[in-house]
Amino acid sequence: MILVFCELKEGKIRKASLEALSEARRLSGDATVAALFVGASCAGAEEAAKYGADSIFKVEAPALGAYSSDLFAAVIAEAVKAKGGTALLGAATPLGKDVLPRVAAKLDAGYAAEVTCLAMVGPKLQAARPVYAGKAFATVDFNSEIQVASTRPNVFAAAECPKAGATETLPAPTLGFKAIVKEILAKGGGKQDLTEADVIVSGGRGLKEGENFKLLEALAEAIGGVVGASRAAVDAGWGIPHSMQVGQTGKVVSPTLYIACGISGAIQHVAGMSGSKVIVAINKDPEAPIFKLADYGIVGDLFEVVPELTKAAKALAITK
Ligand SMILES: Cc1cc2nc3c(=O)[nH]c(=O)nc-3n(C[C@H](O)[C@H](O)[C@H](O)COP(=O)(O)OP(=O)(O)OC[C@H]3O[C@@H](n4cnc5c(N)ncnc54)[C@H](O)[C@@H]3O)c2cc1C
Repeated sequence: MILVFCELKEGKIRKASLEALSEARRLSGDATVAALFVGASCAGAEEAAKYGADSIFKVEAPALGAYSSDLFAAVIAEAVKAKGGTALLGAATPLGKDVLPRVAAKLDAGYAAEVTCLAMVGPKLQAARPVYAGKAFATVDFNSEIQVASTRPNVFAAAECPKAGATETLPAPTLGFKAIVKEILAKGGGKQDLTEADVIVSGGRGLKEGENFKLLEALAEAIGGVVGASRAAVDAGWGIPHSMQVGQTGKVVSPTLYIACGISGAIQHVAGMSGSKVIVAINKDPEAPIFKLADYGIVGDLFEVVPELTKAAKALAITK
């Protein structure tokens, strides 16, 4: 049985979790796939049936309302043992990246992080994952009985494949834990997560200062997108948070439309956005490497081009 640890956000399964679940379905053929949910309430978990879950396991307890590394890792590891899971998948979200290696350690299982390709070789998983900023791929075989892997968001397709989705509630933990997280205060803004955005307008060092990101926000608003950034912009001390960074050490995104403004196209940036369907680059340097990747390139000053695009988008009333 392949278990897939799924995350819920506001009563909906996160897209990255649906991708992991769909991949488990594809890999397992006729074997059982189970979706595992952990939280104070797992309302919304039933949607997993639509994406290929034969079974849906819920572990619900008030103490699981806020994420805690040791508690979640213990609960997930227990569920894998109790259900006889041979493989555990989960999305490489910030939570997944934190908890899944811990679960693997508890299960004495091999772990492959941020995989971009999975296959079954006999009864075991085989994974491929990018290394050296995406310049090469490593193939990972597991020696352990149980195999654990996190799937890179926006790489696998979330495909509907309706199954029974029989729901079972597993016992909540009764162990005493060293720390219980009482509350997590989210940073304000409530903006859509970059990894789940369909349209992204990103800015780099060419923006010259943080204040100028307002130009990108105006364009993003006009076309129903969110704003991202290069590491140079994040590191420049302009008040651009790391959560907006796209790239090897930021987020991996694959929107339908990615507009790179004043971004040169360094390999570490490209590692995070090359999966975008349509890439538009705005750069005043015609030799900028980003143009090699772009579907559409505008050689020009972003301070002139971006406001023009915003004006045109508003005139066309392009809203998502
Ligand atoms: C281990 C490691 C990890 C890294 N991880 C990341 C990562 O996750 N994400 C990331 O982005 N980078 C990452 N980097 C940094 C990366 O190597 C580059 O330094 C960075 O991406 C450059 O950002 P940039 O394109 O904004 O700046 P630059 O390379 O300085 O490019 C600025 C561009 O703006 C253009 N420009 C300037 N003015 C204008 C104007 N008025 N109009 C139009 N164009 C203009 C210039 O022609 C230039 O092409 C990493 C580096 C290392 C070593």
